[in-house]
Amino acid sequence: MSLPGFPPMPDFPAGEVWLAGAGPGDPRLLTLLALHAVSAADDIVHDALVDARVLALKRADAELIAVGKRGGRASPQQRDINEVLVERARLGRRVLRLKGGDPFVFGRGWEEATALTAAGIRFRVIPGVTAGLAATALAGIPATTRDTNHAVVLAAGHRAEDGQSAADWVALAKLGQPIILYMPMAQLAEMAKALQEGGLPADTPAAMIQSATTENERVVETRLGTLASDAKSSGIGSPCIVVIGAVAALRDQVRSTMVGWS
Ligand code: SAH
Repeated sequence: MSLPGFPPMPDFPAGEVWLAGAGPGDPRLLTLLALHAVSAADDIVHDALVDARVLALKRADAELIAVGKRGGRASPQQRDINEVLVERARLGRRVLRLKGGDPFVFGRGWEEATALTAAGIRFRVIPGVTAGLAATALAGIPATTRDTNHAVVLAAGHRAEDGQSAADWVALAKLGQPIILYMPMAQLAEMAKALQEGGLPADTPAAMIQSATTENERVVETRLGTLASDAKSSGIGSPCIVVIGAVAALRDQVRSTMVGWS
């Protein structure tokens, strides 16, 4: 792929692995580099959240390898995924590891990067638009404004290894900065309780954004104190971003002219 006036796209050498983010869902939010990678790869090792229309851009002879983790179904362990990347690269394939959002934001991209380095395999990282920032922006919720906050916390609602302790949420609440939660559903009630124990008022604005940038997008506005019960009663499901903080209430200011996602 080459675009007039643009820097040339890098070659995808045989035996190299590219760790790329595919963005939050809508194929048009792919970066140009990720698009180039999809069209150049021999093997595309992809997550469940990567849109089929992105995968359809592959070369006719390229191989798709699904390694997605989808609730309930048995999914490959991270070390098996690392192994696939190493094996394929050693066969001289151009291997694209394509993940939802950004590879290094709750995407376990670092495990893959270090596994590749341990195996002596060259790799490149292609950042992607991360779901937490895309979902909020497209819901009319700015991650920062001069008036409301000078920092923003990206946090994982559940941690794979040790379970997030309440103390961590109490500490985050004390920062007084908006919190954007990935994978929020499993422990929403405990989290909301701990954030209130940390000093965030029950009426702190919050919003839940499901399937941002897709035709299934849904936004539910709520407050910290009713977050868990509203999640239940609204039936909001995965994938979902939760944002907690003053910024979550700002969308009303722009709703009359902000064009929706389509
Ligand atoms: N690396 C990804 C995050 C992987 S963790 C990124 O940077 O975006 C998976 C979590 O991302 C989901 O549980 C959900 O919280 C969030 N997510 C991914 N895509 C989403 C979407 N389209 N809408 C809302 N949340 C999304």
